[in-house]
Amino acid sequence: MFHTKKRTFEQHHNENITYYQFSTINTVNHKQLNESIDTDICIVGGGLTGLSAALHLSNKGYSVTILEANKIGSGASGRNGGQLGIGMRKDQFYLEKKFGTEKAKIFWSVGLDAVRNVLKLIKKYEIDCAIKPGVLHVGNTNKDYKYFLDEINHLQKNYNYEEIKYFDEKAIKDEILSDRYYSGILLKDSFHLNPLKLTYGLMNACLKNGVKIYENSPVNQIIEKSNNIEVKSNLNLINTKKLVVSCNGYLDNLLGSVRNYFMPINNYIIATEPLGEKYARKLIKRDVAVSDSRFMIDYFRFSEDSRLLFGGPETITSNFVKDAKKFVSKRMIKVFPDLKDVKIDFAWGGTLAISVNRMPQFGTLMKEKLYYAHGYSGHGLAMSIMGGKLVADKIIGKNDLFDLFANIFHLKIPGGDILRRPIYSSSIIYYRLLDYISRL
Ligand SMILES: Cc1cc2nc3c(=O)[nH]c(=O)nc-3n(C[C@H](O)[C@H](O)[C@H](O)COP(=O)(O)OP(=O)(O)OC[C@H]3O[C@@H](n4cnc5c(N)ncnc54)[C@H](O)[C@@H]3O)c2cc1C
Repeated sequence: MFHTKKRTFEQHHNENITYYQFSTINTVNHKQLNESIDTDICIVGGGLTGLSAALHLSNKGYSVTILEANKIGSGASGRNGGQLGIGMRKDQFYLEKKFGTEKAKIFWSVGLDAVRNVLKLIKKYEIDCAIKPGVLHVGNTNKDYKYFLDEINHLQKNYNYEEIKYFDEKAIKDEILSDRYYSGILLKDSFHLNPLKLTYGLMNACLKNGVKIYENSPVNQIIEKSNNIEVKSNLNLINTKKLVVSCNGYLDNLLGSVRNYFMPINNYIIATEPLGEKYARKLIKRDVAVSDSRFMIDYFRFSEDSRLLFGGPETITSNFVKDAKKFVSKRMIKVFPDLKDVKIDFAWGGTLAISVNRMPQFGTLMKEKLYYAHGYSGHGLAMSIMGGKLVADKIIGKNDLFDLFANIFHLKIPGGDILRRPIYSSSIIYYRLLDYISRL
């Protein structure tokens, strides 16, 4: 049950299309690599991390080649919840305790810059990705309000941060037409958007810079040479001065034991039929994205054509669930019982990389000829684009922020290849239980 010979990216072969693929026109198809080539920089993985690194490096004049096992954006980047959130995955209380106030403040400003950086890219490259402002965190229990008020107070006092609004029980029930929530905070400078449109926007910017992109070209082996790296993709050899590996949850064993420091998790989303703008505003009054306060988070928002996109449940098995529609619908109906007869037009899953402390994992191997960035722990829409930029900065010689992240200590997920899924799954069951108890 826990093992498959399939590589993680192959889970997406022959699957039904996602809502994002349905809603997004991509006129560019990239050929498969069928010759051996030389390049300054080779990037493995055509998601937001890889595209962002490629864009920043090609802007500096490097010749860049991207090898993507599937299609550009076929990983998490083109199939996520679309919440472009500030901060890191964990809150400032946690970061201060774990890393000290000084570092926590830098992480906070990186998290803000990550979102601002995406806004700048959208403007500069005129990317139409249906971006809208506002992410609302809602409390599932009648105790969450204390945490929300503490957080607001802390951010105002210590981070001079005011772009946050509190909702009490009455106010939150007016915002979201559900009886599940007791309080909430709105992050006004977080956003939500169509992530595949964003991914293609960055891809097109890369192409204008002369970046070479190959699809259906999985990398099978990486070999260190004295001054360069040889990369094998099927029968072809890529001779590169530097290599960036940006495969995130789909990494498998391409970098050996590096995979043991995060858990690949599958998360699922459904898209309803279009519900109409008027009804959509009845369910979510201000058209913001919403995520809840449980360990196993529910998140939802409306698409540009008024479909409810609802995500949340996770599995840690190496195969996706067969009936994602049913799996996710159950949770959606608990939040919005009135939607029980609504047609679900699309259902899909994606794989993300979760680290124990929920911080991204950046690093170098092969005497700084190989760079990797992954492990955004479900908070990677802005941070993967930042991750790619920081990798590019590091290659160019600007080390500080990359090194700050690379020096974070990460625990190994115990159990090796055979036991880590069962071990992690037991901890998930424990937290699911806590989610359940907290509602009693
Ligand atoms: C269902 C879901 C919902 C999410 N919701 C949110 C959200 O709302 N907000 C948020 O901030 N984050 C969210 N995330 C996380 C976010 O999507 C990721 O952190 C981010 O997209 C990671 O980008 P990436 O480029 O590093 O990885 P990916 O986009 O996963 O790209 C990795 C690429 O590497 C390729 N690859 C793998 N192996 C090889 C190989 N051997 N050779 C060549 N290519 C290879 C894969 O095919 C894939 O295209 C979500 C993730 C999922 C799955």
